[in-house]
Order: sequence, then C-alpha cells, then structure tokens
Amino acid sequence: MAFSDKTRADYQNELGALKDAGLFKEERFIHSPQSSEIVVEFPAGSTTKKVINMCANNYLGLSSHPEVVQAAHNGLEVRGYGMSSVRFICGTQDIHRQLEQKLSEFLGAEDTLLFPSCMDANAGVFEAVLTDKDVMIADRLVHASIIDGMRLCKAMQDSFKHSDMAHLEEKLQEHQDKRWRMVITDGVFSMDGDIAKLDTIVELADKYDAMVFVDDSHSSGFIGKTGRGTHEHCGVFGRIDIITTTLGKALGGASGGCVSGRRELVEMCRQKARPYLFSNSVPPVIVAGALRVIDLISQTTERRDKLEWNTKYWRKMLTDIGLDIKAGDSPIVPVMLYNAKLAQDFARDLFTEGIYAIGFFFPVVPKGQARIRTQLSAAHNKEHLDLAGEAFRKVGAKYGILGKGKKEIIEMFGM
Ligand SMILES: *Cc1c(COP(=O)(O)O)cnc(C)c1O
Repeated sequence: MAFSDKTRADYQNELGALKDAGLFKEERFIHSPQSSEIVVEFPAGSTTKKVINMCANNYLGLSSHPEVVQAAHNGLEVRGYGMSSVRFICGTQDIHRQLEQKLSEFLGAEDTLLFPSCMDANAGVFEAVLTDKDVMIADRLVHASIIDGMRLCKAMQDSFKHSDMAHLEEKLQEHQDKRWRMVITDGVFSMDGDIAKLDTIVELADKYDAMVFVDDSHSSGFIGKTGRGTHEHCGVFGRIDIITTTLGKALGGASGGCVSGRRELVEMCRQKARPYLFSNSVPPVIVAGALRVIDLISQTTERRDKLEWNTKYWRKMLTDIGLDIKAGDSPIVPVMLYNAKLAQDFARDLFTEGIYAIGFFFPVVPKGQARIRTQLSAAHNKEHLDLAGEAFRKVGAKYGILGKGKKEIIEMFGM
C-alpha cells in the first residue's frame, strides 16, 4: 500500500512542524454573506460571532450588493446555471461577449478574453504570446500566479529588484538581442499595497522596445480617478499591452478573470491559452452579475471615492495610534509585526475584540516580514473604522508595540 503508516506519519510530522513554527493556517467559517460585518465561527465548532471584516478584497462593497445579486438572479433565470463546456466548444453566450466588450471599454483595451480566474489568465497568457526567442522581465514581488505562468512559458525568465527602475533599465539593455521583451508587474502589489511606477515603466518600454504586462487584480474598479486601474492612476491609460485582472475582488468578488489588451495578443490567447481552451466557461450567473458591476462603477465614482476617504482615515488612525504600517495610497494597509507567532496571536486577540483580520507570514510574505494585512472597503462606515482602530490600539498596547518600530519589535519578539 503506497499510503502506508510510515507515509502518514511523515506527513503528520511535516504538518506538526508547520504548527510548531506558527505557520499553520486555519480556516474560519463565515455564516453570512460577504460584507463589512460578518458572522464567523472560529475556532471550528464554537458558537458564531458577529465581527467587523478588515481583510476582504471587497473593495467597493459590491460582493453582496442588492443590484448585483438581482442581476445574477436574472442571469440565472434567462441563461441557466452552468455551461457544461469550455468557451470554444459550446460555452460562449452572448453575455460572455458583452462582458468582454464592457471590460475592454472600462480598462481602455482593444479586446478582452474571459478566463475562469485571473490565476488561469496568468497561467495561460505568457505561453500563448511568447516563445524561446523572447524574454520576460518581472518585478521580484509579482503575484504567485504570474510566477507560475512564467514557469509554463519557454521564454527566458529574468527579474528586476522591486520597483527599481534603474535595475529594470539595465535588464532591458542587457536583453536587446531577444525578439521581444516583456516587462511584467503587478499594478498594486498585494502584500505591501504599493503601486507600480507604471509611468516610468511605459517610458522605458518605449525606449527599449518592450511590451508591458500589468496584473491589476488589486486595482481594477477603484485605483485612478475613475477607478480604471493603475494605468489611469499613473497617466498611462491605453498604453498597457496586456492587463490581466480578476472579477473576484472589487468587481463583484465572485470569480473569473480576464486578459485585456492589444487585439492580436488577446487573439493569441483565444487560440492558444490552455486554461481558456481546457477549463470551463465562467457561469452565466457570474457573467450577468459582473455586467451589472461594470455598469454601476461606470455610472458613478461614489464608491471608489468613499473607499479613498476610508483609506486615508484608516491610515492616519493607525499611524496616530503608533502602529508600524507600510506607507502608500492603496486600501491595502499592512500592520507590520515581523514575527509569525505575534501576527497569529495579534489576529486572535483582534477577533476577541470583534475585529476580523488575518496574520500573514511565510510563505505568503518573506520570512521576518509577518504582518496583519488590513483592507478597506467602501462598505465600511466611520463607526466600523473607529471600533477597529480601538481594537488595534488595545491589542497593540497588550503586546507593548505602540510607538515601536521594526528594530524594537524584532528585538522583543524575534523574526
Ligand atoms: C487575487 C490575485 C490573482 C488571482 O485572482 P483569481 O481570479 O482569484 O484567480 C491574480 N493576481 C493577483 C495580483 C491577485 O491579487
């Protein structure tokens, strides 16, 4: 028998080691729709508790918005539950194409192709458009799904130091002998919440004849004056060759992703991208909901404006309290704790105080950079944020870290 007692014991040891190192992840069961207030069962088996949610990617508060839910209901009624097919066999409805056209318009792209998820979009796109004559030059902090996608592609892989434009320029010079160069970056970096220097990246790409790829999963719908994304924020709208993004965050939060960009590049994905060819279509209910989402956020910037206000208020409050946060403009606000166990304990105590936030640690962030990543939503009101701030102050005081910086926290708790 392959899965012998010895095999089982080995895996148990490995899982035990994760627990001992404070690196073991546990799910919390949510007994309510996704929102700024949720009902949570944690630990498993305990009675449920209503808490303020500070860690969803529900940036615009649309995950359970009544108009989106209603549109999804309608989609279910008129186009059914599932497609039972990949897109190119019999999985494309009129509404799939409509959504692709709306996304193109919203993102300022020539064409768009839906994928089951952005993870799938990233898994398929590089292999579909690049060959072994080309090079991919990626920021060193790009999302895991981009790294996986690059691994599946035969083009040469290279990287530049995080947001280091001088280093990127060196790499572009070094690779002038390749057929195509593609600069690859996240728009907003998911762990630190900082924004890529897309204006400089586009300038360098022009100078050294390179294409630009941006994953705007943590930006689409709310970064930039009208929420189009980091290209709008950085003044390079319409100049990005490939944008990938997700419908699983601000844009309704269900699931699905896309590749948007130059017509020919999108067409290459339609012909060759494996997750597009070999995985099921986004279901009609989600397509219908997402169509409504794009309408809602195209009509008014009210939600992204509210999110911006919440973000400023929250950043100032945590700073005034004396917590060590990563500076920036995005609604991703990491509270740095450096030590994995401290991050876990801190999150548990916040939960006791009625605040839901999760400790992040290796391998999700580098060793010694454990943190609690807080995320704002347009669905938060001022009272939510005041209550959450009070809880952070109380728990921060308990561990004696208020007013302390990186060096002191590491001295107290280790890395
Ligand atoms: C969340 C995220 C993804 C994955 O999106 P899914 O649609 O959930 O697969 C990809 N890239 C980045 C940068 C993300 O933050």
